[in-house]
Amino acid sequence: MSERLSGSRGPEKGNQRLAEKVAELIEQDIWESGWNVGSVVGSESELMERYGVSRAVFREAARLVEHQRMAAMRRGPGGGLVVTEPEPGVVRNAARVYLRHAGVDRRQLFEARMALELAMMTSASSNVTEPGIERLNEALDAERQLLDRGVTRGHARNLHRVIAEVAGNPAVTLFVEVLAQLDQDMVQQKWDEKGPSGDASDEAAQASHEAHRAIVAAIVSGDAALAQHRMRRHLQAITELFEAEP
Ligand SMILES: [Zn+2]
Repeated sequence: MSERLSGSRGPEKGNQRLAEKVAELIEQDIWESGWNVGSVVGSESELMERYGVSRAVFREAARLVEHQRMAAMRRGPGGGLVVTEPEPGVVRNAARVYLRHAGVDRRQLFEARMALELAMMTSASSNVTEPGIERLNEALDAERQLLDRGVTRGHARNLHRVIAEVAGNPAVTLFVEVLAQLDQDMVQQKWDEKGPSGDASDEAAQASHEAHRAIVAAIVSGDAALAQHRMRRHLQAITELFEAEP
């Protein structure tokens, strides 16, 4: 386990805090300079001087920003700390692991999803464009094809992600994906433990697909209230899938 947690390394603990502070300053600098992926923030010696820290502290700060996928150290001529593209998958996984660890249950996931996905219906209905409609239809077709091939296990969350993207709010998109994936993990686990018969899961998948079609139709027609009503019923239906069990 981490040596930092042993409590016997006083000065290094101070260095750790300093490195965290420097990592925050680096993030701010990257953000203020427009987050240009591929651009060099500075060489190791330049950055040690800019932030007024030792090599050891700077390297720890660089490790932190690398871990957060903000930037990476590149060796050699023209090297230094290079801005990178943050990976949403890393953030989503971290959030998922955290929520599982925190013991979130399906009822709580449902509450959070309901709030987010209903808000998303309003922006999706007013922001939807021609390319957006095309993507929604593609997602529905892909889902239809999976169902036709007999892939019914697990709730198809892809459509929810596409709706979130059409709504155009990255904050909502991130959390909708985290919550939908977590819910799907939990459903899958139950399916595996003592799942309903093949017929029941097939029926649930068909019902979800029909609900998705109806939700998309409401979004495309710009009817936010109808889209919300349909999304609410759909989320209630998928949450109640296992509620009858002891
Ligand atoms: Zn759904």
